[in-house]
Amino acid sequence: MKITVLGVRGSIPTDGADHLIYGGATACILVEADGQAIFLDAGSGILVAPDTGSEQVSILLSHTHIDHILGLPLSPIMLSDRRIDLYCEARGGMSVREQLERLMSPPLWPVGPDEYQARLVIHDLKLPMNIGAISVTGIESNHPGGSTIYRLSADGHSLVYATDYEHTAEKQRELIAFSRDTDLILYDAQYTEEEYARMKGFGHSTVEQGLTVLRESGAKSMLFVHHDPRHNDRKLAEMEQELSDSRAAFARAGMVIEI
Ligand SMILES: [Zn+2]
Ligand SMILES: [Zn+2]
Repeated sequence: MKITVLGVRGSIPTDGADHLIYGGATACILVEADGQAIFLDAGSGILVAPDTGSEQVSILLSHTHIDHILGLPLSPIMLSDRRIDLYCEARGGMSVREQLERLMSPPLWPVGPDEYQARLVIHDLKLPMNIGAISVTGIESNHPGGSTIYRLSADGHSLVYATDYEHTAEKQRELIAFSRDTDLILYDAQYTEEEYARMKGFGHSTVEQGLTVLRESGAKSMLFVHHDPRHNDRKLAEMEQELSDSRAAFARAGMVIEI
């Protein structure tokens, strides 16, 4: 499995000279295995997706908050001649198509999801499922409006994508069991402990809580994602230097990991 980090920022994209190292584009991770290209979320990071050459392209959305779908309307893959299968949980009484059309229709955007060169096939998510030889399982996150935590497994390797996740004692136990012995967990660590005290209920977690999941799940490694837009490179580097576990790091746009 090859994992390419395309966007790591949470909530809203950032820009400027002090956001160059970790990157300012929002949530998007590309997973390639078994001739499949699977995008986890379609934030603005998807705009810089490499051409994988893969005919089999899928998008798994954790949820449809704007930072996770922002890149879709202008993504190069939508402007290419191929079929794209997009999956997300139907929520709030709305199908995924209805959720996406909130953004992709006038007056917010001039064209709908069916008016692209690519053929976007939108599926209401039903797990577990397989995409080629990749098996996809999931659990519900704890996040305002809901979000899906995914586990992708192929060839004896796996990763867990746990973004837009706020810890509770019960959810931590569930996530630890779900992540058992995985190779990599991508974990939402938007806040410092100090910030979290003021941001309870916003649907995001902390480094400390992530490290507990890493330790107790037996996972091999962890990358922190969904960086707070107010955390510039200096702040993120400081947070990264304070990490007490060498298996953990902060995700940077452009990183490529093989598991
Ligand atoms: Zn988000
Ligand atoms: Zn969200």
